[in-house]
Amino acid sequence: MTDLAYVNGTILPVAEATISIEDRGFLFGDGVYEVIRCYRGVPFLLDEHLARLATSLAAIRLELPFDIGDLAAIFGDLLARSQEKEAVLYLQITRGVAPRNHLFPASPRPTVIATVRPAEPPTPDERAHGIRLITVDDARWGRCDVKTTNLLANVLAKQAAHEKGGQEALLVDEAGFITEGGVSNFFAVVDRTIITHPKSVHILPGITRDFAIELAGGLDIAVDERKVGLDEAVRWDEAFVTGTTKEVLPVVRIDDQRIGDGRPGPVAGELASAFQQAVDAAVKERA
Ligand code: PMP
Repeated sequence: MTDLAYVNGTILPVAEATISIEDRGFLFGDGVYEVIRCYRGVPFLLDEHLARLATSLAAIRLELPFDIGDLAAIFGDLLARSQEKEAVLYLQITRGVAPRNHLFPASPRPTVIATVRPAEPPTPDERAHGIRLITVDDARWGRCDVKTTNLLANVLAKQAAHEKGGQEALLVDEAGFITEGGVSNFFAVVDRTIITHPKSVHILPGITRDFAIELAGGLDIAVDERKVGLDEAVRWDEAFVTGTTKEVLPVVRIDDQRIGDGRPGPVAGELASAFQQAVDAAVKERA
């Protein structure tokens, strides 16, 4: 299947899609994005992703020249044309093309691009045996709640984690608190309570994070949104990360420290199962 792109109204193969070298997304990272997973051709939690996109756009003071809901039709078009059933939709909106100047252009014309590509879900081995996180100093800016394309700190963190044999970076702030993963939110588990950093400017408000918290409510799993110290790790029963592409994925090791008994725990397992059931239900509803 050809990977397809949408570029300002035109759909074409990704390999043929281009933007200007004066696009502010390219020059300044002056843009926002979303990543949406499609299961059996159905975009999952689409409304939630579009709501977060609206928040991101408002945060960077970028107005769309069309209704944000119109993006659903663009996604539908891309999915229909690609015929990819297990897909990832990527959407990026920048402040458009203008001669390089930090100041906003007088009347910006946003660049809207989207791609549809085959999903790369967690491997059976990662699901069954869990993943290893590598701690990295959280060197990001002060508005991590905005889903901007300024991802250099995340890129460096993820690369460092990979080079040290980890599947994901675990970002730790100056005071030793865990903020989140390089591309995911982090949860520790103690006595059937899931503990995760509260929403603030220091983390991305993950769609999967919120969904896992909602699922916990129906499973008699308690939720504690507070700062979690890396030094508490010896007391955790288990840990996991959440994300659009990672779903709910158990963590069994952080650096050289084993988490719990070093195997995926039951709470992560229950949440991962509930997540898959919710996906099945969403797909059925749209069938
Ligand atoms: N934190 C960061 C830094 C991320 O990049 C992501 C993935 N976009 C997440 C958390 C998870 O968010 P979501 O569940 O919305 O994919």
